[in-house]
Amino acid sequence: MVRHPPVIAAWGMGVDSTAMIIEWIARGLPLSVVLTADTGIEREETYAFLPVFQRWMSDRGIEHHVVRYTPRHFRHWPPYFTLLENCLTNAPLPSISFGRHSCSQKWKIQPQDGWVAAGQPARDCWAEGGRVVKLIGYDMSPADSRRYAHREGHVSALYDYRYPLREWGWDRTACADRIRAEGLPIPIKSACWLCAAQKVEELESLPRWCLRLIVLVEARAAPRLRTVEGLWRRSTKKRPGSMTRHIHDRKLLPAAEIDAIISGAPVDLVDFQRVAADMPAAERLPMRDWVERFNAGVERLSA
Ligand code: SF4
Repeated sequence: MVRHPPVIAAWGMGVDSTAMIIEWIARGLPLSVVLTADTGIEREETYAFLPVFQRWMSDRGIEHHVVRYTPRHFRHWPPYFTLLENCLTNAPLPSISFGRHSCSQKWKIQPQDGWVAAGQPARDCWAEGGRVVKLIGYDMSPADSRRYAHREGHVSALYDYRYPLREWGWDRTACADRIRAEGLPIPIKSACWLCAAQKVEELESLPRWCLRLIVLVEARAAPRLRTVEGLWRRSTKKRPGSMTRHIHDRKLLPAAEIDAIISGAPVDLVDFQRVAADMPAAERLPMRDWVERFNAGVERLSA
């Protein structure tokens, strides 16, 4: 039994995990480090909150790091560094659009676990037969209770998973109240802006540059989709399975702009990838360059 195992808090930049860390510290409980996994496509409001809470943690001497999945073997592809670039490179859609969760595993859990595993405190703990404590911010709401039920009983040889908000009986309102009491702004729900789990009103509040990229992702994936209609998977009474369809029907982007993206961008992207495939990996332009060019091009056209 290790007396003082490392304690890691997973900070997702949203309400729950923020409140969890604030209260954990207020109760004087041990915390070794706070880790945040950045997929590269969080909403702008979430990225605006990031430095606010980082400052709060720094002021209290809490070690914190942002970690990212860093692919190393690009085969014949241009290098990619975000979940969006991953989709445009070699994955039709994030796995959650197919009802799976490997996007979260790859872009969120794996980078955090990799960071922990590379550190001496965790290695020492494991060498002594102990387990690192990982704090997860699931609250008592029905949605988080479902996520918790899914994970309950999950046994790991390396980690002891703790759910402090559930130990304290806190729901989302209690979490928001705690953040407010700390004098901090309330963050929005953190998630990738192309996530299948987002609600209609969340999609409708996205800036146009995100909407255009959503259209692009679906257009690029379309030839390979067999079992799902688009990023939202399948149609419901409230919305279609394709986010592009919703963007079109609600006139969130002009129809001509949507058509131009669908007809032109995937072809241009394939050309970009073809050029990259003929070059040595170190000389290839990253996928980021193509995305920036795409953004600048559609911005010019719509001006
Ligand atoms: S927020 Fe959604 S799209 Fe992003 S990693 Fe999590 S499940 Fe996947």
